[in-house]
Amino acid sequence: MKIKEVTAYLEQLAPLQLQEDYDNCGLLIGHPDTEVTGVLVSLDVTEEVVQEAVRKGCNLIVAHHPLIFRGLKRLNGTDHVERTAISAIKNDVGIYAIHTNLDNVVNGVNYKIAEKLGLKQVSILKKKKNTLLKLTVFVPEGEATARVLAALHKAGAGEIGNYSDCSFRTTGIGSFRPEEDANPVIGRRGALEEVEENRVEVILPAYLKNPVLRAMQAAHPYEEVAYYLHALENENQEAGSGAVGFLPEAMSVEDFLPYLKQHMNLSVIRFTPVSKMIRKVAVCGGSGSFLLGDALAAGADAFITSDYKYHEFFGAEGRILIADIGHFESEVFTKDLLVEIISKKITTFATCLSEVNTNPVNYYY
Ligand SMILES: [Zn+2]
Repeated sequence: MKIKEVTAYLEQLAPLQLQEDYDNCGLLIGHPDTEVTGVLVSLDVTEEVVQEAVRKGCNLIVAHHPLIFRGLKRLNGTDHVERTAISAIKNDVGIYAIHTNLDNVVNGVNYKIAEKLGLKQVSILKKKKNTLLKLTVFVPEGEATARVLAALHKAGAGEIGNYSDCSFRTTGIGSFRPEEDANPVIGRRGALEEVEENRVEVILPAYLKNPVLRAMQAAHPYEEVAYYLHALENENQEAGSGAVGFLPEAMSVEDFLPYLKQHMNLSVIRFTPVSKMIRKVAVCGGSGSFLLGDALAAGADAFITSDYKYHEFFGAEGRILIADIGHFESEVFTKDLLVEIISKKITTFATCLSEVNTNPVNYYY
């Protein structure tokens, strides 16, 4: 199996188009046509991780954090990023980053945290907007409609939450006059034609626009396909930042803190307390302080994230428990998630969990 086949599979689950603007996800080092000998999954890529990959016979590292974030202008080995990149290139080890695109999907980084905390009825905390389209296409009644619909669904259109193959159609009369150079499937040149057609409507994520339109064109019998694409204002239930869900039962803060410590395997929690029971919990792996307003709006009793600054804790104002559990600690289970994702589908090579502790932060207490 080639690198491009592995990354295509990962990008089906976490499309690159869902990464944040500042991010740099995707294949950062290596050629897509290289045969994969094994995958090493890591949170960060360091020189030690590259050496581990070589030792374990893995020529592809799948990491959460992009090694190259802001671009490289030279490769002299003067800092850890350059040295790690040089080491990967010298050892023919590819590096693939699956970062905010994995944060922003259902069953991604934040759903993994929710799973570790035993949260129920989990949904995305801040759903993305302006990422959905509606396609309306006119198809002759009968077999052609079934064929076009099947092609649209196969290309990923018509998915709403836990429902697939969603569509709506009405029947009406389509009219057209084929011009001199036309090759009409129905009707003849110069004559006004009226045909019983279905108006078919499906929803689709904007990033699937091109494959869906290609599938529609290929399945449609007409030489010229009449269709409209509309941008939708709907929130995207499938994509966005953070997650929110409910604990199995309400807990006091005194009970919640040890619960959080145990379930996320923490040594320390920085928190600002609240005087209420904890039931609804918002989570965001990595730096999540930008989601405090969304956590409050969702009615969360606690917000679990990391990289909180001193002054930002004041934003709680007694309304919510903010718990900063550490950046590495909040995302470390992403490694398990990636191993699960890859080994579920791909069995032609080994998928290994990196054993290198890449957390640069230590605690002395
Ligand atoms: Zn992170």
